[in-house]
Amino acid sequence: MIPYVTDTPDIRIPASLVPGDGRFGSGPSKVRPQAVEALAAAASTYLGTSHRQTTVKSVVASLRDGLAQLFSLPDGYVVTLGNGGTTAFWDGATFCLIERKSQHLSFGEFSSKFAAAAAAAPHLDDPEVLTSEVGTHPEAEARDDVDLYALTHNETSTGVMMPITRPAGPGLVAVDATSGAGGLRVDPSAFDAYYFAPQKCFGSDGGLWVALLSPAAQERVAALAASGRWVPASLDLTIALDNSRLDQTYNTPALATLFLFDHQVRWFNDNGGLEFSAGRCDRSAEILYTWADNADFATPFVSRDQDRSHVVATVDLDGSIDAAAVAAVLRANGIVDTEPYRKLGRNQLRIALFPAIDPEDVAALCACVTHVVGALAG
Ligand SMILES: *Cc1c(COP(=O)(O)O)cnc(C)c1O
Repeated sequence: MIPYVTDTPDIRIPASLVPGDGRFGSGPSKVRPQAVEALAAAASTYLGTSHRQTTVKSVVASLRDGLAQLFSLPDGYVVTLGNGGTTAFWDGATFCLIERKSQHLSFGEFSSKFAAAAAAAPHLDDPEVLTSEVGTHPEAEARDDVDLYALTHNETSTGVMMPITRPAGPGLVAVDATSGAGGLRVDPSAFDAYYFAPQKCFGSDGGLWVALLSPAAQERVAALAASGRWVPASLDLTIALDNSRLDQTYNTPALATLFLFDHQVRWFNDNGGLEFSAGRCDRSAEILYTWADNADFATPFVSRDQDRSHVVATVDLDGSIDAAAVAAVLRANGIVDTEPYRKLGRNQLRIALFPAIDPEDVAALCACVTHVVGALAG
């Protein structure tokens, strides 16, 4: 159990240690000031204008082109988008991507949710759910009767990442990359649906989903539509595909979210693409895990090196130190959202390493934690 902190200890972190930007949350996460300034500059001609006109549609077109470039999408893949975030996409997938039976790798709070959505759908067979202990990930197992494999690139609740590879056999591969996309490398030939939302590596706001759909995924959507299965319109991926091809969404999107999202994708592409953005995460991860390995009061929660996420790090603190008090002191000093995922219930800090977060700020955060732990002990 995490102790409930009633009073935050009065510890002032020296200004020389404090990071330039104090946002380390795993979503919503740091939005770059440059993107906000660009939005403010465009506001009077962009915000509050029709999403069916060129001003907004050109931003959607730029975003879709930019994502295709960022992920080196092969011909025939369609960058698809709609409202409702990743959670709405899960529901869309239970209607429009799973034919009868899915297999889910369930290794934390987020990966378990898509499995639960598929299990609850009356028109589907019970899914196969492969689990593993928190802090690890299971491996997919090829099956003849599975028509969709549900993988998660990064389990945000535990800080475990896994490589995306295609199981043998004909099933579609759908990857929840909500916190991994843009921060972890991926080969597009390994997936049929790579889906995410913009409030994590893309430094924007929530409420939108994006799915990179392969030709096989599009065929599945079309075949299920032809089969006569009833689909609510707001979750219908046929409707989403039709609108996306016209650089719009089925219903009204959040225009600021689109703008900030596009700005971030341009920033990635202008600086070298996924190699640049994932490289920043690699540097931050190197700094953070090296610090945790060397500090006598901290241990990376995830034991296998290759499973330790480069986008969301989890670090256990020694039982003699109250991690909740550390997070509370950090928060009182303007360094926010280092609390662990609630339901994990560990004496832990969780720190986002998304591309927008400067590796130097991660180094500064490490020094701040060391300072606070020393002050609490003293
Ligand atoms: C944040 C997150 C979600 C939920 O995204 P919403 O847009 O809030 O629905 C799902 N999966 C993963 C892996 C996440 O990190």
